[in-house]
Amino acid sequence: MRVLNCKHCNGVVEASDKDCPHCGIPLPPDLAKAPQKKFMIWFVSIVIFCIIMMYWLPSL
Ligand SMILES: [Zn+2]
Repeated sequence: MRVLNCKHCNGVVEASDKDCPHCGIPLPPDLAKAPQKKFMIWFVSIVIFCIIMMYWLPSL
C-alpha cells in the first residue's frame, strides 16, 4: 500500500484514504492518480522511442 503526506497537516495518509486521519480534511481525488499518470506518459514515451529506433536503425 502506498503512503502519502497530507498537504494540510503533513501527516502520513494512505493513497486509498478519502479523508486525512489526522486533521480530517478531504483529500483531493487526484492525489493517488497523479503519479500513475506521470508513469503512463513515461511508459508511452519509451515505447514510441523504441518503435522509432526499430525502424531507424539499419536491419542486420
Ligand atoms: Zn491532514
